[in-house]
Amino acid sequence: MPKPIIDKEKCMNCNVCVEVCPMECFENKDGDVQVTQPDECIGCKACEVQCPHQAIVVED
Ligand code: SF4
Ligand code: SF4
Repeated sequence: MPKPIIDKEKCMNCNVCVEVCPMECFENKDGDVQVTQPDECIGCKACEVQCPHQAIVVED
């Protein structure tokens, strides 16, 4: 199963992943973007491709 992982050392909490994920896997909680629904991931990699800080890896 695919699973998105955020490297919080690189993440700038810009919300791009929150906006592009079609499955709503990400959520901004009080300014901190987190993977809240990893099991919903369909592996499209839109988040990994579009994260402006290369902070996401989608594991297969
Ligand atoms: S798109 Fe990248 S930098 Fe922006 S909130 Fe998501 S993981 Fe963080
Ligand atoms: S790979 Fe696609 S479905 Fe999975 S978290 Fe990224 S944008 Fe969402």
